[in-house]
Amino acid sequence: MGRPLAKRYDAVVIGAGIGGLVCSAFLSKNGRKVLLVEQHFQPGGYCTAFKRKGFIFDAAVHHIGGCGRYSIVGRCLKELGMEVEFFKLDPMDSLVFPDFSIDIPAEIEDYISLLGRRYPSEKERVEEFFKDFVKLYWAIINEATDSPTLNKYKGITYQEMLDNYFEDKELKRTLAGQWGYLGTPPEEVSCIGMCQMLVNYLRDGAYYPRGGTQNFANGLVRNFTESGGETLLSATAEEILLEGSKAVGVKMEGGGEVLANTVVSNVDARQTFSRLIKEELSRPYSDRLKNMKESPSYFLLYLGLDPEIDLKGFRRGFYHGPNNQWKYISAPTMVDGTLAPAGKQILNVVATIEESYEEVSDWKALKDRLTQENIEYLDGLIPQLKKHIEVVEAATPRTLERYTLNSKGAAYGWAVTPEQMGSGRLDHRTPVENLFLVGHWTNPGPGICAVVSSGWRVANLILRNGR
Ligand SMILES: Cc1cc2nc3c(=O)[nH]c(=O)nc-3n(C[C@H](O)[C@H](O)[C@H](O)COP(=O)(O)OP(=O)(O)OC[C@H]3O[C@@H](n4cnc5c(N)ncnc54)[C@H](O)[C@@H]3O)c2cc1C
Repeated sequence: MGRPLAKRYDAVVIGAGIGGLVCSAFLSKNGRKVLLVEQHFQPGGYCTAFKRKGFIFDAAVHHIGGCGRYSIVGRCLKELGMEVEFFKLDPMDSLVFPDFSIDIPAEIEDYISLLGRRYPSEKERVEEFFKDFVKLYWAIINEATDSPTLNKYKGITYQEMLDNYFEDKELKRTLAGQWGYLGTPPEEVSCIGMCQMLVNYLRDGAYYPRGGTQNFANGLVRNFTESGGETLLSATAEEILLEGSKAVGVKMEGGGEVLANTVVSNVDARQTFSRLIKEELSRPYSDRLKNMKESPSYFLLYLGLDPEIDLKGFRRGFYHGPNNQWKYISAPTMVDGTLAPAGKQILNVVATIEESYEEVSDWKALKDRLTQENIEYLDGLIPQLKKHIEVVEAATPRTLERYTLNSKGAAYGWAVTPEQMGSGRLDHRTPVENLFLVGHWTNPGPGICAVVSSGWRVANLILRNGR
């Protein structure tokens, strides 16, 4: 991963998030000379890990959907000739509400049966709902923009969709219980976004890469390198060079310019157009960018625990509280013991934050307070937890922003509202000729599976253009 060997490339990809990595790997596999530049010292964006005292902590991503042979990630890996070993999570998740809880089976048919038994008066509607949901999923995947199925659901929130099918309030809360994966509550989240995310997980399962999520990113870098691609880490792109209205290369921080026929940005879209492009954009596009809203960010807690901790009854999943507050709690060492020294365990928490980014003036104080609050919460859930803690690390939206340059630590790019999905999300093509967008700020949306799809689609667009 030394310095670039050439000054001219077919493509420069800015950002080694999973979208940027997949795009780079496909371009390189198809004979393009590609340079990938990443400002962090390791690749993966939100799909990275860090080590403390022998514990391997996943920085953000906890599992990946669509890794089966016929799903997007599975097909992508096959096409690239990559082997990644995954554990399939079973149950897929647990949902714990103050008044009831449920384990979501790993197979969709088992989930449908379980819901039918639990809510007998809604059994037929449950079957109908899932049939329609999977149909909608295929309309999204096939990018049939004029499909009647897509048109029917385009402007609708997930809550509106659920209300159209069901009466039972508890059933609706269950079916919406994983909205945290998109960060926008059921009354505001796009039903297309929920469908894309949920069907992926429910139909094809959730998967954990052996050795941690960093292994997934590292595997993509290896694949890219083997086909001749070059990666520069700790290398920040400062400017996208333009000639008239065309992107022609990238200027790196600290000097040095690289010329390219195509530039791909995996960077936060606002940053791409406000910081990396120094010239003014055409009005409709810049106005549109101004009016778009980022997704929320989170507080994250990472605990390394001694071998005496007893996690036997622990359930991985969403723990819901009042006012749309929740925590996602997972113990990856229960899936893959190699993440910690012998017998030790890891607990990770992703938690909503009541304060908005703008309201926080003292990030250290916020981090300390939320660390204490979340440890107390876990201690109530897992007896004696506090006595078994060996390592404590935490991250705030500011930390996520620092490591990925996503504005305000936005977890999913633009918020997943009906207005900002489909044609409402930014297209891969931009008003700047030869500049393309990949990742969660563009279509089809957030999550590893979706950004894999965006990387693959953009590579195909570039290859089809003969660039
Ligand atoms: C706490 C949390 C938990 C999540 N959990 C899951 C999960 O379990 N499963 C799931 O599927 N999704 C999850 N997501 C969402 C998912 O992580 C993201 O949608 C996805 O990883 C975004 O990928 P991306 O390709 O858009 O790039 P990003 O991950 O946003 O990476 C962008 C990259 O660009 C680099 N970069 C930025 N600017 C520059 C520059 N100027 N020069 C060079 N490099 C630059 C950054 O350093 C970064 O590496 C989670 C997100 C968060 C925050």
